[in-house]
Amino acid sequence: MAKTKPPVQKNQTIELTFEDLTHEGDGVGKVDGYPLFVPYGLPGEQAQVKVIKVKKNFGFGKLIEVYKASDERVEPPCDVYYQCGGCQLQHMSYSMQLEMKHNQVKNAMKKVAHLDHVPVHDTIGMDDPWRYRNKVQIPVGQKEDGQLMTGFYQKRSHNIIDMDTCLIQDEMNDRMVESVRRIASGLGIDAYDEENHRGVLRHIMVRTGQTTKDIMIVLVTRTKKLPQKDKLIDEIRDAFPNVKSIVHNVNSERTNVILGKETKVLWGDEYIYDTIGDVKFMISPKSFYQVNPTQTKTLYDQALEYADLRGGETVIDAYCGIGTISLFLAQKAKMVYGVEIVPEAVTDAKKNARLNDMDNAEFYVGQAEELMPWWHNQGLRPDVIVVDPPRKGCDEELLKAMIDMELERIVYVSCNPSTLARDLRVLEDGGYETKVVQPVDMFPQTNHVECVTWLEKKEK
Ligand code: SAH
Repeated sequence: MAKTKPPVQKNQTIELTFEDLTHEGDGVGKVDGYPLFVPYGLPGEQAQVKVIKVKKNFGFGKLIEVYKASDERVEPPCDVYYQCGGCQLQHMSYSMQLEMKHNQVKNAMKKVAHLDHVPVHDTIGMDDPWRYRNKVQIPVGQKEDGQLMTGFYQKRSHNIIDMDTCLIQDEMNDRMVESVRRIASGLGIDAYDEENHRGVLRHIMVRTGQTTKDIMIVLVTRTKKLPQKDKLIDEIRDAFPNVKSIVHNVNSERTNVILGKETKVLWGDEYIYDTIGDVKFMISPKSFYQVNPTQTKTLYDQALEYADLRGGETVIDAYCGIGTISLFLAQKAKMVYGVEIVPEAVTDAKKNARLNDMDNAEFYVGQAEELMPWWHNQGLRPDVIVVDPPRKGCDEELLKAMIDMELERIVYVSCNPSTLARDLRVLEDGGYETKVVQPVDMFPQTNHVECVTWLEKKEK
């Protein structure tokens, strides 16, 4: 086979017109049919680009100068946007972000699921797409002068960018991080040094209850001992009377995982509380809880609408976490069964059911793909199943069980359009019809998109 050489070379500077966007949000331009992916390029723009990587069928470039800017280009409000790896879409108008996410889902439906005809609604965005995150976990570093600094890692590296604010964080989280850092600095506590695996303070984590205004602070250290512990607690409490919980977590490993195994409450409660709609939840340092509470309500309302519960139904919530969707559904169903692989989450789910005086929700530890067929064999006949799997999508065995169970309805909540589309294909072939896909923007300014999908059993 004749080898065709790529039409560009590494380090070459070229003029490029962007035609499209990747699902990561990078601009795509072509040189004689050879695609180049360029972060921060927008469709319609003409730009000067430096080629930085050349592969056989595609390459990567760096945006040097935009000659003709798109009307959708905006000035990123964050000072460190181009260094930080956290956000990818701040240079794009919000309406374009929503449209990009919509197109991404539509493409996955077409290319992966071959469901060209299924309606994909417009992405539901936020009125104010900033300051939405209720949880921050920020690495701690040390400056030349010994003072502590906090900031996210530079893209593709572990260099901490010294920053005071993160515009997608709840303002309270920013203020807490700043204060805890200042207080710890004042008490002479050292930051953890990743390279030499020395030092103490690795991460500061803050969680806030959006409706309750409760605050939890978690200090993650390499050492078992937290120096100046009592002074640290006193000063934090003096500065912030809203703090409900101060927790110490020990992580002595050389790892990128933030939290270690050992967690001890230093002061206050083991939990903080938050509400989504009328349902109250208790949240512990390690529990999975959606990070954008405003949009979580939107997402769950949509899931509830698609589940179309009238009060007499039996519902299964596979991948239930701490029972958030389950309890939302339990408000309208006769009985909800939740299954979740993490035992601590199931304990939390049970506590959450009691907290809301709901006795029509039961929770089980296990793999959804194992429990579902077992339930089926035991004669459990659910009317609706809701799944909300991790990025890799549903397990094959679970899809098979869903097909065997011949449910009236399925509601599929997904954080990954490609695995969603892959699974919808399987469910379609197994006798279900995809009625509608609704993307919801849970993570504005980033390239992630969440979807709720409604499926029904096909008429025989
Ligand atoms: N529905 C919840 C959690 C969704 S995250 C919410 O909205 O908050 C996905 C959850 O699936 C996680 O809690 C994860 O621990 C769990 N999980 C992952 N694999 C699983 C499996 N095979 N069976 C059951 N649960 C699983």
